[in-house]
Amino acid sequence: MAIEIKSTQGVNVDPAELEKFASLAHRWWDKTSEFKPLHAINPLRLKFIDDLVNLQGKCVLDVGCGGGILSEAMAERGARVTGIDLGEKALNVAKLHQLESGSNVSYRLISVEDLANEVPTTFDVVTCMEMLEHVPDPAAVVRACSQLVKPGGTVFFSTINRNPKAYLFAVIGAEYLLNMLPKGTHEYQKFIKPSELSSWARIAGLNIDGIKGMSYNPLSDHYSLGDDVSVNYLIHTVKPQL
Ligand code: SAH
Repeated sequence: MAIEIKSTQGVNVDPAELEKFASLAHRWWDKTSEFKPLHAINPLRLKFIDDLVNLQGKCVLDVGCGGGILSEAMAERGARVTGIDLGEKALNVAKLHQLESGSNVSYRLISVEDLANEVPTTFDVVTCMEMLEHVPDPAAVVRACSQLVKPGGTVFFSTINRNPKAYLFAVIGAEYLLNMLPKGTHEYQKFIKPSELSSWARIAGLNIDGIKGMSYNPLSDHYSLGDDVSVNYLIHTVKPQL
């Protein structure tokens, strides 16, 4: 089904990527759906973020928030959360879901680059999870995230590493063998090595504070955080104080 994307010219977005998520949008909050992996990793990444920044009372931006799985969870921890995405359907689902959940996230259809021009140095914490590998120019997103966070604030990124093991696990395993994700969800050449992400972050003025791997064990159907960054990983960065 074709969706209408409003004026993507000059915007750092791949309409085909947005369409992948638009066609599944009604299933964001179905924990048995294609979004099951995001629901499964959510408590892990939430704890990781909260342990590092203490979300209570923080002003947080969730970039590429989709249906709001992480945005809502951070709001429940007491953060004032803004969620942005360029997928209109996902945002509509996010807004509807919070009517049910009573969560209080402010959702906006705006690119991270435009928001960075509008309200630079506004947020205590910026999260950009599982989104960079869907964007034509991920370094520009990293730059915008850096502009949006206040000095002393923290920016989290998560994405997928690029190497044969990541191809095997994230594409062949998840999409073809285990049917966890629809075929074509991820494109290998868009995966990002930690060294690349770290260098974009540094160029954008962010210091790398740490990196954690997120591993899936198909036998136990269990995710864990650890030192193995060969497939999925999270990076946390800090913008130096002025
Ligand atoms: N961050 C969420 C959703 C990840 S799915 C989570 O981890 O739970 C990837 C999301 O990125 C989708 O919602 C998709 O619409 C969004 N996306 C893809 N390209 C984008 C872009 N250029 N700008 C903003 N959002 C984008």
